[in-house]
Amino acid sequence: MQFDITATLFAAAAAVFAVLALVTWRRRANNPGVAIALTAVMAGACWWSLADAFGLAATSETVASVASLAMFPGLGTVVAAFGFLSIAIARPQWVPSRRYLQLALIEPVAITLLAATNPWHQLVYGGPGASDLTTPAAWTYGPAFWCHAGYSYVALGLGILLIAMSCWQAPPAFRGQRITLFVASLAPIVVNVIRLAGGFREFPDPTPLGFAVTGTVMAYAIFRQDLFTFAPVARALIVDQIGDAIVAVSPAGRVLDLNPAAVALVRQMDPDAPVELIGAEASALRGGLLARPAGEAGFEFVLAGGERADYQVRSSPLIDRRRRVLGTVFVARDVTEAKAQTRRLFEANAQLLGQIETIDRLRADLVEVASRDPLTGLHNRRYLVEQFAGMLDAAERTGTELAVALIDVDRFKSINDHYGHLIGDEVLVALADRVRAHLPAGALVCRWGGEEFFVALPGATVAQGFAVADDVRRRCERDGIDVTGATVHCTVSIGLANYPAAGTSMNELFHAADVALYLAKGSGRNTTRMHLEALGRA
Ligand code: GH3
Ligand code: MG
Ligand code: MG
Repeated sequence: MQFDITATLFAAAAAVFAVLALVTWRRRANNPGVAIALTAVMAGACWWSLADAFGLAATSETVASVASLAMFPGLGTVVAAFGFLSIAIARPQWVPSRRYLQLALIEPVAITLLAATNPWHQLVYGGPGASDLTTPAAWTYGPAFWCHAGYSYVALGLGILLIAMSCWQAPPAFRGQRITLFVASLAPIVVNVIRLAGGFREFPDPTPLGFAVTGTVMAYAIFRQDLFTFAPVARALIVDQIGDAIVAVSPAGRVLDLNPAAVALVRQMDPDAPVELIGAEASALRGGLLARPAGEAGFEFVLAGGERADYQVRSSPLIDRRRRVLGTVFVARDVTEAKAQTRRLFEANAQLLGQIETIDRLRADLVEVASRDPLTGLHNRRYLVEQFAGMLDAAERTGTELAVALIDVDRFKSINDHYGHLIGDEVLVALADRVRAHLPAGALVCRWGGEEFFVALPGATVAQGFAVADDVRRRCERDGIDVTGATVHCTVSIGLANYPAAGTSMNELFHAADVALYLAKGSGRNTTRMHLEALGRA
């Protein structure tokens, strides 16, 4: 062994390949296809570079000869693995079949066996010294070498073509990365072409060094940009798992990608949809999932079998970091159940509102019933007491008077005795109607109890109150009451009092009216008396 600067360069390249192989191998979890293929390319190139380094540094011709032949396993591996790498880049989800692997191994194994076997290695390298492994510098290329070279060029060329096509087909977000990979893949070819054209004169074949450039750039593009990782992992975690149908459509209107929920929905709407949906013309898919205006809207889709489903479809532009529109994303959410639930909720709500209305009505009825006297239909005493407070307030506020009258049927006990209690009731009802009918607007009358009625006349002076009350009394005196089978004649006595002269509270005014009524009864009944008279002031 001797120190040789070129040998050191190849050894350094071998070290770079070893590191890259290690790095890519450790990153294989995220994208096994690309990572394993790149690892194999790097491992093969490492072997190849080491063989070159040994050949260049060898002092013995035999060692140099063996090194020349020993590079073939590495070379064959690089070519086969590069083929796999290019397919993996073009189709990130691709997994090679066993048959594919076996086919790819044929050439590297064959050339290695030929190179390792004497005298068959002379099919690879012939010429002086080739049979006894001396003077490798004088060797000539044999037919197997040319076959191998032809195969290698074709395989590398096809691989590079595949990567070039993937630049074209990749979604815009991935295009930059694919172009980087394509440019990187050209490095060994460029180096090789320069060498074939007579470049690098005394320098040994620098192709493995070209692969060092390729490997470094590719590893960086794949793992630093992380797009290969993004594609399968993000999809699996986010897009594939959610129930919403998600479809990405290119600006030219082709389906770029769609998740399993979207595939299911498209097939439900259109059983004749193409088998391969990615790349399909979006507008050609029946059912109109994708023929929607931008923004958010609800649609009813008809599914296969005539079933209908309500979907909320949101379409939004897919924009990259440089604000380029990469396409449109459609997200369709099945809201059939949510809508049905809302409808049920509305119905239940309407029912509840109806019930609340009924309850309110019943409560109002109850309040009304509770404020009425069941026999005469007049308001009852409780109601009057409630209302009277407001009347007094109003009178006080406005400085007006208020007259009250207590009406008592004369000798009603004898009517009961004579006609019976039921006829007595009829008389009470007729009297109540009569009193109510002859009161002015704004007056309030209630059945105070038994055969007594209480009348409040807001705004009436004592004289006006007397006129109203005495009019009622005279009508009772004048008109008999027709009851079942008879006409009953009865009179009433009325006691009158007024606010504020006779009192300022309900109790005071009632008491004053009662005193006046007592006066009316005492003076022979069928008369109207005022409280002032009771005081001797009238
Ligand atoms: P006066 O007032 O003129 O002194 O004699 P009166 O007979 O009316 O006397 P009193 O006030 O003592 O009697 C009232 C009677 O009214 C007694 C009661 O039987 C009768 N009465 C009270 N409430 C009702 C009722 O709802 N229906 C009937 N039919 N009678 C009633
Ligand atoms: Mg009485
Ligand atoms: Mg009476």
